[in-house]
Amino acid sequence: MLKLDFHPAGRHFLQIPGPSPVPDRILRAMSYPTIDHRGPEFGALGLDVLERVKKVFKTQQPVVIYPASGTGAWEAALSNTLSPGDTVLMYETGHFATLWKKMAESLGLKPEFLGLPGIEGWRRGVQPQLIEERLRADTQHAIKAVCVVHNETSTGVTSDIAAVRRAIDAAGHPALFLVDTISGLACADYRHDEWGVDVTVSGSQKGLMLPPGISFNAVSQKAIAASAQAKLPRSFWAWGEIIEMNKTGYWPYTPNTNLLYGLSEALDMILDEGLDNVFARHERLAEACRRAVRAWGLDIQCADPAVCSPVLTGVMMPEGIDADAVRKVIYERFDMSLGTGLGKMKGRMFRIGHLGDCNDLTLMATLAGCEMGLRLAGVPLAASGLPAAMAYLTSEAKAALKAAA
Ligand code: PLP
Repeated sequence: MLKLDFHPAGRHFLQIPGPSPVPDRILRAMSYPTIDHRGPEFGALGLDVLERVKKVFKTQQPVVIYPASGTGAWEAALSNTLSPGDTVLMYETGHFATLWKKMAESLGLKPEFLGLPGIEGWRRGVQPQLIEERLRADTQHAIKAVCVVHNETSTGVTSDIAAVRRAIDAAGHPALFLVDTISGLACADYRHDEWGVDVTVSGSQKGLMLPPGISFNAVSQKAIAASAQAKLPRSFWAWGEIIEMNKTGYWPYTPNTNLLYGLSEALDMILDEGLDNVFARHERLAEACRRAVRAWGLDIQCADPAVCSPVLTGVMMPEGIDADAVRKVIYERFDMSLGTGLGKMKGRMFRIGHLGDCNDLTLMATLAGCEMGLRLAGVPLAASGLPAAMAYLTSEAKAALKAAA
């Protein structure tokens, strides 16, 4: 067996914005023996996860679970609902939006890529009025779908999905609404039904705290109706047979049984904590992180405080400093992984993940590792960021104690 013995004492700090650390409870649940995926026990497991996962998407509609990474669920969303040559309106929030657009091109769709110019678009999230204007101009309804990324993992910006829905409605446009919340789900509030999303794409390895390997399409009745007409070739991704067999808790092919054990455990953890508490915890950690970054005197990638991500924080480096060199020092000296800058942000920023199985002390240790690494790498800091983060977390803890008294 390949030996991965390069980690020194203590736990590795996996502070990338997904995969996030997998809690021991979930690892243990996944170590149950694999069972017959067509046997009697399996149906109960399937029905359990298929039903309870709907709570996390806030939907009453079917949620399709694929044994695939998020990229597969992107393809499923497009290929089930669209036909070759269809125009789709996609929004440039960052690297992942760009990859989804490239996929649309390679599938034979015609994506229009909307966004603010240059790097600005990567700092401010979706501007719903641009979508509304474009849809209003499309009087012939050539645009068949609007695709946006909820939490752009490459930048740390969380766009307002309800506002995009309002923009589509204000334009009176019938386009389908497809949303990627691969890194937003179970970290930031998300409402598939209430926001009128037709296909929500998500994955296992972020807020759900599972290893990579399963991904999701939550679908609306409108999306299911569209799939009956859609002509893009699909087989493995086709919803029809999967949704039909899921009614009894089974899949038409071999699902990844052990990840489904893990999903069942993750749902216990998330629903026991309560979704609102999960979201509040992520907001608290993100705010503490931003306070530390500001105290360091460094810029945060997200330029609009209203849309800063609760999942991760993008930290920009001063001119002339290679963010990857800083990450390397932190990895080698403190055994902590941080997210690299992607696409246009390569070398210019690193990303601190504070999602999933993360608490106040995990965050403080993460910030301490960053700060020591920044100093080792010779990055000039205005001040320590730790007191700012600690003061905020302490005041939040005081408020919670008072509220509980
Ligand atoms: N979309 C977003 C927002 C992501 O963060 C990721 C992965 O990090 C993807 C899509 C692609 O998912 P995967 O790498 O699981 O295929």
